[in-house]
Amino acid sequence: MSTVLETEEHRALRDAVAALGKRYGRDYMTGVIREGSHPRELWSEAAKLGYLGVNLPEEYGGGGGGMAELSIVLEELGAAGSPLLMMVVSPAICGTVIARFGTEAQKRRWLPGLADGGVTMAFGITEPDAGSNSHRITTTARRDGEEWLLTGRKVFVSGVDIADATLVVGRTEDARTGTLKPCLFIVPRETPGFGRTPIDMELQAPEKQFELVLDDVRLPAEALVGDEDAGLLQLFAGLNPERIMTAAFGIGMGRYALGKAVEYARTRQVWKTPIGAHQAIAHPLATAHIDLELARLMMQKAARLYDDGDDVGAGEAANMAKYAAGEACVSAVDQAVHTLGGNGLTREYGLASLVTAARVARIAPVSREMILNYVSHQSLGLPKSY
Ligand SMILES: Cc1cc2nc3c(=O)[nH]c(=O)nc-3n(C[C@H](O)[C@H](O)[C@H](O)COP(=O)(O)OP(=O)(O)OC[C@H]3O[C@@H](n4cnc5c(N)ncnc54)[C@H](O)[C@@H]3O)c2cc1C
Repeated sequence: MSTVLETEEHRALRDAVAALGKRYGRDYMTGVIREGSHPRELWSEAAKLGYLGVNLPEEYGGGGGGMAELSIVLEELGAAGSPLLMMVVSPAICGTVIARFGTEAQKRRWLPGLADGGVTMAFGITEPDAGSNSHRITTTARRDGEEWLLTGRKVFVSGVDIADATLVVGRTEDARTGTLKPCLFIVPRETPGFGRTPIDMELQAPEKQFELVLDDVRLPAEALVGDEDAGLLQLFAGLNPERIMTAAFGIGMGRYALGKAVEYARTRQVWKTPIGAHQAIAHPLATAHIDLELARLMMQKAARLYDDGDDVGAGEAANMAKYAAGEACVSAVDQAVHTLGGNGLTREYGLASLVTAARVARIAPVSREMILNYVSHQSLGLPKSY
């Protein structure tokens, strides 16, 4: 890889994270999933090495880097078979929003823990009746003296059980309908009225998804992050990193599956040559490799724009990177499973469960279709149907 795209430091970070990932790897993750537990050991070791807070400001215990570095960490852990989904949420969304818009007290309260992994934060925006249309969210905050009362419902929020707090996206009573003017609240896990129920997902991953019911959750004034009038700008400060990190998640998983398939295709022999010599096997694997490389290129562009402070440019690139990585991940996993024939479906080889896991990169945090809509309208200027 040329230094135009990644510096010496980036390459060193990639190598170091890959070495850590190798020590844990897929077997570790499969064990954690089987026990219904969490990848605590990997999370704390990655944190201790400074990888989880690499994007957060140095004065609050972070590494002073940006999304370029954080996405390298997640991609390499994923390529080793042990991705940490909560990295998408905790340091990337919540850490960024607090670092950019939080008060000094909020930064001091939350950032050092997010950086050293001692604190994990979940992020809740999706609602049962809003889904992809976040302008329709109805979680509402109303003032009660100095305090806030937050009421609403959320779905599919990842990792609420292990998160010390959840960053909840709502709207104020004054801006209850119409174009979304979001406001973000930090809700500690055990706050009275903050209920969570796990959703029974057909997904083999250590992170669980939750439905949340917020019933007049009483929060102090300092639970509101930044300004209630900062609106979409503040929310997008967190959503672009989320897209870049979902791209990293998809590229990592795709690389892991492709690696397994290539290893298998090199040695499995049922005719005169290994199956990898048949172009019907080799070409789709080559295509998968190209698509993953292209997705990484767009992810690097998005990270660079974001880290340079170009939120608008980063928005388009982050959407495209997420789209490309989601598609590349789904096809790489599909082709990997196919390359292994019957073994593609055995538990021993562990690839079949990735078919479901890969779909997450296509659906969340913004679906393939919503990105195509974004590009149609924003990049191409085409009219909207909805
Ligand atoms: C594993 C997992 C983890 C998640 N973690 C979190 C989390 O931590 N926090 C959080 O807030 N959310 C989380 N989500 C939710 C995720 O962001 C949503 O599932 C996603 O935004 C899609 O919303 P929806 O499921 O309501 O689908 P819907 O909005 O109902 O969409 C259903 C289908 O219709 C299509 N569609 C909708 N509108 C249009 C349109 N205008 N044009 C064309 N097609 C359209 C979509 O592309 C999709 O294929 C998670 C989801 C999953 C699966």
